Amino acid sequence: METYICKSCNIKFEADGVKTEWVDAAFGPCSKLTAPCPECGKECDEYRTPKQNSSESYNMSHTPPCGSCCGGCGL
Ligand SMILES: [Zn+2]
Repeated sequence: METYICKSCNIKFEADGVKTEWVDAAFGPCSKLTAPCPECGKECDEYRTPKQNSSESYNMSHTPPCGSCCGGCGL
């Protein structure tokens, strides 16, 4: 069982989905799970909780080895 979201009805539901595979021209082989909405019967994508962007990787620490910029290290 996975969780799916219907964008038309704006509801989440759990179902046993069907795996759809295709080859995208830009992204290559792709696959996704879809399941019919219990309300409208439309094919819905699996609901995934949005991942937090790891802004940690872009660290703007600008501290010179001496600890104070322009003055302490004498370079
Ligand atoms: Zn629906």
